[in-house]
Amino acid sequence: MKRSKLVTVLMIVCFLAIVFTAKPGPVAAAKRHITIAAGWVTGVYFPLSGAISRILYKKSKDLRATVESSGASKANALAIRSGDVDFALLQNDVAYYAYTGTSLFKGVGKVPNIRGVMCIYPETIHIVQARGVNAKSVADLKGKKVAVGPLGSGTEFNTKQIMEIYGLSFDDLAKAERLKAEEALDYLKDGRIDAGFFTTGVGNAGITNLAIEQKGIEFIPVPPSDVAKLKKKYPFYAATVIPKDAYTGMKEDVQSATVLAMMAVRAEVEDELVYNLLSSVFENINMFYSAHKMARNLTLESALDGMPIPLHPGAEKFFREKGVLK
Ligand code: GLU
Repeated sequence: MKRSKLVTVLMIVCFLAIVFTAKPGPVAAAKRHITIAAGWVTGVYFPLSGAISRILYKKSKDLRATVESSGASKANALAIRSGDVDFALLQNDVAYYAYTGTSLFKGVGKVPNIRGVMCIYPETIHIVQARGVNAKSVADLKGKKVAVGPLGSGTEFNTKQIMEIYGLSFDDLAKAERLKAEEALDYLKDGRIDAGFFTTGVGNAGITNLAIEQKGIEFIPVPPSDVAKLKKKYPFYAATVIPKDAYTGMKEDVQSATVLAMMAVRAEVEDELVYNLLSSVFENINMFYSAHKMARNLTLESALDGMPIPLHPGAEKFFREKGVLK
């Protein structure tokens, strides 16, 4: 045998020996990475999703979560449809419209694979006005420059529906701006817009900062009689108040409307994974509560109140075992 041939044969023999005698090393437990679509960096979905990610990191052996910021509810529903994310936080009204392809989802079609995980806290319509605008009612926004909600937000739906109750559409505004939430708050501070709508948990960090910087904040109220009209057409709303101690410099409670923030998941995600996420959150509920004041609204007993879409089977199993679902 020629020398070069011998070398080749030896190499093959060695390779086969390694392949056939190598023992598998210790197998690391496979970690499953999930993504959670949150919302605005200055919002409430973001710290709450961060808390879930921390809980999984510290307490779950096999689950890890990445949190993504977004325009929020509508964008998140569409990200579930396309499979770009596994879990998402979004408004319960938007989840319903997405699942059924109705109302403001007529144009983009159904999100047939969106499933419920849990409802978390009330999200209140905050209509902030710039200093000196002195609007007493949404009707006074006619001809004004208004941030109607970020692109892909649920807020934009709420703005449209609320303005409709006052006989207004976006065409009646001098300008309907689709700014990011943090930009809208900056524009309000500088008086570059007259008002901005934000459907978010009371105690939203961006609004809190604006109130501190301006030493006060002015909201436009939506009185209960108008919330009743709204509810008649769009049943997800309820009347509420933004309490006067919520933000710096408020003089009194402000009447407004509320929907709910919930968590949803792609139907294709394994049952066990959804079940494990819920178990981790409820077993470490104090870690969740410490993320934001709004997180404290989550309890086992109330987690299914206001759920507008079918539950994911993993969530169904969890809530049945806890006796919440009969
Ligand atoms: N509810 C908001 C929206 O979908 C997002 C709020 C948040 O990120 O806290 O428009």
